[in-house]
Amino acid sequence: MRGLGSARILVRTIATKKPQTPLAIAFDIDGVLKQGSVVLPEAVRTLKMLEGDNPWQTKVPYLFITNSGGKEESKRALDLSDDFKQKIVPEQVIQAHTVMQSLVSLYADKPVLMIGGPDLPPGGSRYGFNQVYTAFDLHAYAPASFPYADPNPEQQDAVRHADFSKIQFEAIFVFHDSREWGRDIQYCLDILRSDQGVFGTMITNEELRKRRKIPIYFSHGDLLWGNNFALPRLGQGAFRTALEAVYKRVTDGDEMNAITFGKPEQMTYEYANELLQMLLNRASNGNDVHVAPENIWMIGDNPASDIMGANNFGWSSALVRTGVYRDVEGPPAHKPTLIADNVEEAIMKIMRNTWS
Ligand SMILES: [Mg+2]
Repeated sequence: MRGLGSARILVRTIATKKPQTPLAIAFDIDGVLKQGSVVLPEAVRTLKMLEGDNPWQTKVPYLFITNSGGKEESKRALDLSDDFKQKIVPEQVIQAHTVMQSLVSLYADKPVLMIGGPDLPPGGSRYGFNQVYTAFDLHAYAPASFPYADPNPEQQDAVRHADFSKIQFEAIFVFHDSREWGRDIQYCLDILRSDQGVFGTMITNEELRKRRKIPIYFSHGDLLWGNNFALPRLGQGAFRTALEAVYKRVTDGDEMNAITFGKPEQMTYEYANELLQMLLNRASNGNDVHVAPENIWMIGDNPASDIMGANNFGWSSALVRTGVYRDVEGPPAHKPTLIADNVEEAIMKIMRNTWS
């Protein structure tokens, strides 16, 4: 019976250490932990608190959900580790296009036009999309299709030369912010109005309404984002608004077949919810510990994205004053569980409210 006895002692020892209610945190990055390239000093202290440097000496699993992108998750994790002086692993990084991996089953071997980013958007073939073309490829194939700029010589190595009269695009992926709205709106329209996805062809508006539309996927829908400039900047949502308006005009009132990922879309929160649960179990040495949705907190600066998404998903939310949201604009359109001056104050309030 000795074995059972020591097991009892072990159980009693664990039971006497009062377990804290499990918490989990999802951070937005821009306007919360960083302003543009500037790391906020309180961000470093905040992550230390989550790593256990807090009055309760309790670790809290966390991850980052950002509507930005343009880098592989592993590269982003290294950059964030550098920024915040903590080891961040790729599983803690959800970029807008991370969740677009769910499209691989539909488009793995189908031609897709990828829009956005400074060069060949990351993740294309790594996510498992094997027939990715970009605006640079179309421009190189037909320079007159966008006569206001020469094809960029720096992109020559990345250009994929193809006979686009023989390629049928099945979808458009807006992976990241467009750097060249005029060109990218032009090419999106070209493909959306084409005859079966072939660049350089076009069907009538009447025909367009009858056929199955070529879908366009946006990695996120943020109208604005914050960096270290004094005022918010235009985001992918602004590009989409412009594209939609032109599409509507040239098609006499037709609507695009558009699907959006990123915050505040539910798919992104589902993905994050599963990851946080996994990180919590990993931190509990594989023990099946469950975190209640109201104890998962989204910390963000954008009511229309971070806060709205969290509220819709049943998480709690904290709005900080270091980014897009300004008090002068009045109460936020989507009410957070709490408002704090910065991320450190938010986390301190959350820990105190939950554990004291
Ligand atoms: Mg933000």
